[in-house]
Amino acid sequence: MSNPSYHLDTLCIQGGYEPASGEPRIVPIAQSTTFKYDSAEQVGDLFDLKTPGFFYTRLANPTVAAVEAKIAALEGGAGALCTASGQAAISYAILNICQAGDHLVASSALYGGTLNLFAVSLKKMGIAVTFVAPDAPDDELQAAIRPETKCIFGETIANPALRVLDLARVAGVAHRNGLPLIVDNTFATPALCRPLDFGADLVVHSTSKYLDGHACALGGVIVDGGRFDWVASGRFPGLTQPDDSYHGLVYCEAFGPLAYIVKARVQLMRDLGAAASPMNAFLLNLGLETLPLRMARHSSNALAVARHLAGHAKVGWVNYPGLDGHADHALVQRYLPAGQSGVVAFGVRGGREAAMRFMNRLRLAAIVVHVADARTSVLHPASTTHRQLNDEQLAACGIGPDMIRFSVGIEHAGDILADLDQALAGD
Ligand SMILES: *Cc1c(COP(=O)(O)O)cnc(C)c1O
Repeated sequence: MSNPSYHLDTLCIQGGYEPASGEPRIVPIAQSTTFKYDSAEQVGDLFDLKTPGFFYTRLANPTVAAVEAKIAALEGGAGALCTASGQAAISYAILNICQAGDHLVASSALYGGTLNLFAVSLKKMGIAVTFVAPDAPDDELQAAIRPETKCIFGETIANPALRVLDLARVAGVAHRNGLPLIVDNTFATPALCRPLDFGADLVVHSTSKYLDGHACALGGVIVDGGRFDWVASGRFPGLTQPDDSYHGLVYCEAFGPLAYIVKARVQLMRDLGAAASPMNAFLLNLGLETLPLRMARHSSNALAVARHLAGHAKVGWVNYPGLDGHADHALVQRYLPAGQSGVVAFGVRGGREAAMRFMNRLRLAAIVVHVADARTSVLHPASTTHRQLNDEQLAACGIGPDMIRFSVGIEHAGDILADLDQALAGD
């Protein structure tokens, strides 16, 4: 089933797992921390990375490996590493190439957790981040790059600002400087956009969102495009010089296009250990089977919601990448032609208080600290996910006090619109 010419819909169902005759049709849950071998020498070779194989679930597990192979295929990448959460995936994606004294350039329109990671935790580790607007022109991006810069980071569709990143242009600036572009593709998913096709080098996800799609299992993944030339760049000694913790192994020499993702697994996952559980990988795999169907429905429902709200007297503004008047309309046509995902942001007239009252009146849409699953849900970012940010940071990531983040599910659109109408009618 590893035939790369299959369409995405087929890979979602059949990718990553190919049972031999008599084996389970469905990817089994290998609920085991460890794996048995016949000789001590075999285990020694596994530890030295001389032979591939499973030996401890922190490093690799058959169920997790199947879903990693599927997601790598969906994104058009060379390899993938699943993690315990999206935050772990982003942390590892950065720490795999950055250490104290290093620097990265990031879009300012980011998920709140990523902003905290970059502005607080990475800073404590001695890694500096320069934030630039998601539409910063080339010269501004260029001016932010320093000799110690290691990557550029952005989100395909920013959560919750819903700005769309000009992937090819930002990748161009990154590559002219010998830097990889890392893209968080959580909101778009490979069903709507594959950043690697537009020049990104690494893709990260919170699989807790649309990839699982049912709000069942926390998870994250890093996908390595396998095309970035770490050696030619000259900025990445961790990949091009010997690793003493593996008897002087050089990742780029030993693993070629898989150097980055192998290093993330055998060094960072070994040492930091935020591994995906086999049970969660099984649930994620099940969710992935319906990804294209769900993303089409999320997108059409969200467009219906956005259009409806745009014409509503009680609504001050609506932000949805699928609306004609969206700030990034041209980028949407290039990067998200098949659908713009399920999240709509809008402002209820009357500010913060009116927004809270509106949310309390909703019946179908539930107030949850989550987005991007099958059930319609609603959140007030300024008082929840982005609560730790000051007003200036809130403004920089495009969040006002009246902003409602509405995650449109795959229920019948008519029921979602009716719920919005009755909740808006209350004031
Ligand atoms: C939720 C989210 C994350 C964090 O993922 P967790 O699985 O909650 O750790 C990262 N990026 C984006 C865009 C998200 O929406």
